Amino acid sequence: MPDNSPLDMSWILSVWIQSPRHANLSDALSYSWKDALPLGQLVRVPMGARHVLGIVVNSTPRAELDADLGYKIKPILSVFEGLDPLSSNWVSLVEFAANYYQRSMGEMALAALPPQMRSLSDEQIHKKLQKWQRQRSTPQTIVQSAHTQEENLQPWSSRSLSAEQQQVLESIASGTGPFLLFGQTGSGKTEVYLQAIESVLKKNPLAQVLIMVPEINLTPQLMARVKERFEKHLGEHSLVCQHSGMTPAQRLNAWLAAHQGQASIVLGTRMSIFMSLPRLAMIVVDEEHDASYKQQEGSRYSARDLAIYRARLVGAKVLLGSATPSLESWFQSEPSGKYQRLYMNQKIGGAAHAKVIRVDMNHQPRNTIVSAPLLQAIKARVQRQEQSILLLNRRGYAPIIQCNSCGWMTQCLHCSAYKVFHKLDKSLRCHHCGHTSRVPAACPVCADQDLGMLGLGTQKIEEHLAQLLKPFEEELGRPIRVQRVDADSTKTKDSLELQLQAFHAGEVDILVGTQMIAKGHDFRRVSLVAAIDPDSGLFSSDFRAPERLFALLMQAGGRAGRDWQLQEHSSPELWIQTKHPKHKIFSALKTFDYEQFAKDELAERALANMPPFSAQALIRAEGKTQEGAQLFLLAIRACAMELLSQDESCAGCEVFAYSVVPMALRKLANMERAQMLLESPSRSQLQHVLGKLQAPMQELRKKHKDIVRWAVDVDPQQL
Ligand code: ADP
Ligand code: ZN
Ligand code: ZN
Repeated sequence: MPDNSPLDMSWILSVWIQSPRHANLSDALSYSWKDALPLGQLVRVPMGARHVLGIVVNSTPRAELDADLGYKIKPILSVFEGLDPLSSNWVSLVEFAANYYQRSMGEMALAALPPQMRSLSDEQIHKKLQKWQRQRSTPQTIVQSAHTQEENLQPWSSRSLSAEQQQVLESIASGTGPFLLFGQTGSGKTEVYLQAIESVLKKNPLAQVLIMVPEINLTPQLMARVKERFEKHLGEHSLVCQHSGMTPAQRLNAWLAAHQGQASIVLGTRMSIFMSLPRLAMIVVDEEHDASYKQQEGSRYSARDLAIYRARLVGAKVLLGSATPSLESWFQSEPSGKYQRLYMNQKIGGAAHAKVIRVDMNHQPRNTIVSAPLLQAIKARVQRQEQSILLLNRRGYAPIIQCNSCGWMTQCLHCSAYKVFHKLDKSLRCHHCGHTSRVPAACPVCADQDLGMLGLGTQKIEEHLAQLLKPFEEELGRPIRVQRVDADSTKTKDSLELQLQAFHAGEVDILVGTQMIAKGHDFRRVSLVAAIDPDSGLFSSDFRAPERLFALLMQAGGRAGRDWQLQEHSSPELWIQTKHPKHKIFSALKTFDYEQFAKDELAERALANMPPFSAQALIRAEGKTQEGAQLFLLAIRACAMELLSQDESCAGCEVFAYSVVPMALRKLANMERAQMLLESPSRSQLQHVLGKLQAPMQELRKKHKDIVRWAVDVDPQQL
């Protein structure tokens, strides 16, 4: 047992721990110990009555500090001996992320570790580590055995590459990046990732690679391809996942494998950007445009942007891939930017783009859901045993109960939102706070029983479609199988995967769902995709809405006709039902011309000084009253103004503070919400002012007692 008497505690260590949100930004706490400890060392420290996990970031001899530190410094409780310290690069990554996203270091760092590192005792973790080390061979032994084998000098895949794939791989091998791989859906981007990874691992068998995908449900398919390619060369334990769908034990095991260097390839969602990877040599960000890379709560980081930073920090290559890059990345890959753009224009096998067919809904009977020509096209698919996908926007499709007499609607008592009707259990549910009630027998305001439905649900479309197809079913002599995929149908674990499997297996004729079905899936027998009502994305208060809609429809179009052999019989089609058929988004879509779209959109953004031509940060506040939330933000606004005009270091900073406004969803779970946007042509100036604002904001928070939560969202994705 170490003697923990203060006299022997001759070192003072700075330790990051998970501290309350918005505690001081430089929030390392001081503890004493008999020795200096390396940077990144994991330790257990006392925090009030609790024992918590901490990360050592500095050691100073007590003698060098003032003899009287003014308060009693407690000793560290224990040191994790069996585990390597976190690398200095990892610590730097966290430091950068915390600074950039205006969070505390401790919060950022501890949230980036697997939850069991915090919840298990030292002994439990040691046991795990030992058990795990016994099971796994070290990378050296794998590497040695692998390298004695002649076959390993051969390519790990016998697939011959397309000329474009070949060229792109050569560029990646010879360049430094960051790379933006702009490749059509089906152009073979995934194959490029795998081969690029292969060459990294062959060059340095101890290297580690991180592959990120936007959604958990994309991991199984990609992991299968990674395993098929790499398992026999690297061993099964060197391929691991990291996402929130894993059990805490699985996450800890995968984390240990990555941290101790045994895992060569980590496949994960945005959280995996913080994996401890001491020998990281490459990061792949698939579907880099996807909004899911931005964390929408807590530390609100962008995993894609951090990937760029992390790669530069450790000298790794970073490869962003998309058929519809974010305008930020596209702009960076213009000749004036910092990224190298790589093109893959051809679909593998020479498959053609889906043909885009616009249905002018102005010329359809009022309230048409599925237009006659679209229905005809769907029937033709069913007849040929091909599959169709009907895509709904998330918004505007929730069925709401309305009183046909007085207009009363099923407003949630706790949110500024309407409750949604769920047919299955005849309930009304708020999709924001979850509050559930029964459908009333009569209007609670005027007692009229004439209650009707407003809006379309995926459930309603599913029913409506079944009705429309009924006569055809008889003609066909077999049932037509319609599968609905939405948040409701996929609530239980694995149900989404099962539903998608059934679709893959051809057990379903028509898939009806929200955008979750448009992403990344490699469906083989789909020859028709239809956007039922995409118009809400055309006119939105959020300037990114057109970009998102365009990407969604391009991706959706990419789901049709992935199997080029299918095209001998049938040409893939993307149907758009719209009241604005002449809109420029749809014209660019018609020729699948992302570049034209990007050019137009960037020109508009430049005129309006919007990202990527400016940097933004959103300050949000929640409180019991809207007035209270706004007053707090107004005080911050005044403080920002004062800084900009009075503070010497802010002189010359061009930062514009917009008006304080209620958030789009003004009330959520009884909390009134307001926001204020800050904008600057210079990212670093915005950062500087945000940094300066931190302390005054903390002070203001103390005065505005009715504020329950507040947060800074740097580079917000949703306004
Ligand atoms: P993307 O990721 O760009 O949508 P994928 O990498 O998934 O495209 O490739 C589309 C399909 O083409 C996949 O089924 C893949 O196995 C196949 N493929 C990729 N590269 C080649 C190649 N060089 N030769 C033959 N088939 C290929
Ligand atoms: Zn009424
Ligand atoms: Zn609610």
